[in-house]
Amino acid sequence: MRQFQFEYENEDKFVNSLKKINQWKKSSVTSDVFFQIYSNKLNYSKIEIICAAIEKEMPGAHYIGSSTNGNIFIGEFSKAEIVVVCTVFEYFTTKIKILQYPLSDENKQEVASSLIKEVNENQWCKCVMTYATIRGMSMSDFCESFDDLPESVQFFGGGSFNIDINSDYACVFSSAGKITDHAVVFALMGGEDFNVTSTFITGWKPLGRKLEVTKAEGPILYELDGRPAYETYYKYLNIKNDENFFGNTLEFPFLYEYNGINIMRAPTAARPDGALVMTADIRENVKARIAYGDPWTILSCVDEEAVKLKEFIPEVISVFSCAARRTYWGDNEVSKETKPFQSVAPTSGFYTSGEFLRTNGKVNQHNVTLVIAAMREGKRNLDAMADVNKNNQEFTGRVSMINRLATFIQASTEELEVANEKLLLAAITDGLTKVLNRKEIQRLIIEKAEQINNSEDEHGKISSSLIMLDIDNFKAVNDTYGHDKGDEVLIKLAETMNDVISKNAPDGKIGRWGGEEFMILLPDTDDDRAFQIAELIRVSFSMVSYEGVPSQTVSIGVTGIVKGEKADRSCNRVDKALYSGKTSGKNKVVKL
Ligand code: GH3
Ligand code: MG
Ligand code: MG
Repeated sequence: MRQFQFEYENEDKFVNSLKKINQWKKSSVTSDVFFQIYSNKLNYSKIEIICAAIEKEMPGAHYIGSSTNGNIFIGEFSKAEIVVVCTVFEYFTTKIKILQYPLSDENKQEVASSLIKEVNENQWCKCVMTYATIRGMSMSDFCESFDDLPESVQFFGGGSFNIDINSDYACVFSSAGKITDHAVVFALMGGEDFNVTSTFITGWKPLGRKLEVTKAEGPILYELDGRPAYETYYKYLNIKNDENFFGNTLEFPFLYEYNGINIMRAPTAARPDGALVMTADIRENVKARIAYGDPWTILSCVDEEAVKLKEFIPEVISVFSCAARRTYWGDNEVSKETKPFQSVAPTSGFYTSGEFLRTNGKVNQHNVTLVIAAMREGKRNLDAMADVNKNNQEFTGRVSMINRLATFIQASTEELEVANEKLLLAAITDGLTKVLNRKEIQRLIIEKAEQINNSEDEHGKISSSLIMLDIDNFKAVNDTYGHDKGDEVLIKLAETMNDVISKNAPDGKIGRWGGEEFMILLPDTDDDRAFQIAELIRVSFSMVSYEGVPSQTVSIGVTGIVKGEKADRSCNRVDKALYSGKTSGKNKVVKL
């Protein structure tokens, strides 16, 4: 494929350019022609002139277009209102089909189904490029519908926008439909000699501890860790809710893992109730971290990706870059992010209101990212592999201060997290035997009993059980062989229980009830099975040998946790069962 890019000036010059391409085509072997048109204004009449010129000069040419927050031309931010990118395919096997649909909250699902049907009917399709007016819409379920696309089909594109970042107006247009707001265009491309690869870059890195999204609805993030979401920005970053809020938070968007990849969301505003309005939907229960972006780290990521991409030897590259990145860098510097790609292949694109990319079969809506799609016809021509024009030559040997501080914070946070985990574990563990302590096993039993009481299960059917154990004549061990030997016996009993439970009831929980008494909670185990397991423990323990101490035995009580009763009822019953074992000769299991 060959590509020609123009900054649109006027109709005459544009028609002239088209005529020149037609001239070149005559002396070359070419197939279809595909235009991408980006306009940072919603100037319908100007756009219509361009579309009409294409239709007149190149009948049958395909085109898709979008309003944008700025255009990328020959790898750099363009000052022009409109950029036209003309890709001429050179293989007759390459196929392209353009679709356009109205798009609203009501018909999103239908649109997704129609696209899937089209892709399935056109088996040659290898990728779908999309431009969509998404401002003010919740796109999560739209994205999810594309799970059903054939696995090999790539999906990428950008949300239409407007030069005014606060405006919701946007439009798309194509050779398959008129210029319109609230619509989506898809370009299906493929064929046996058509090759495509797509990826995304953030450059922002996670910082500090994880915060759980405890309340969110669509793009409104109400609470993190049960506190109003805005407090996070104030508390950790001293960002005030003033007119600079968007610009200030942009350096620190949220980053979380979803569908196995990093997703970013930036707040656009903080509401008086402390809720944050995010750039797109954020899901409840995800664990988000504040991320930081600094020029050094971002550009290193960009350079790295460009180096990877050159191996594909693309012939053209489309970039969908979040408008937030343009705000972050400013117009004079933002091209640093896209220039390295131009050294790999002709690069064009636009600044979006959201980026779409399919990764591991899932289409995600991104924010603050660069989505990159690279295409090539035919095999890789290794002689054509480009040298990447890296930014970070400027930075060689240097790491920014913020990068160092972020590393410091991250390393400290990780240490604290590890220490915290150890403390949490210590708080629920018995020091001598390393099984759970009384407080924790009691908590688990109460939790289980409540769960059983709230479940829909059949009444009276026992689904979980308790086992209670007490070493027989243990006082004599201490008195005869010393306290240390007594401790050894306790540890051996814990080992025996762990061994039997891990093999026979892996979900079972073992706790030290006190002194030489232990309690085992067996979820999803009826009392007959619990009895068998108790027998295994009794027999195994009686066969443990010690140096200088004869083998010991335990008495065991077993009971089921019955629906409709409180936890202490089952605990009392299992205690009674154990007591009856003690009074009827010890070294036995009794079920009540
Ligand atoms: P029974 O068969 O009726 O259970 O008799 P027993 O001797 O085991 O029962 P008793 O309650 O009279 O004695 C329990 C002993 O357990 C008393 C106490 O010294 C000992 N013990 C409690 N905790 C520990 C411990 O952590 N280490 C050691 N070595 N002994 C302990
Ligand atoms: Mg005892
Ligand atoms: Mg006892």
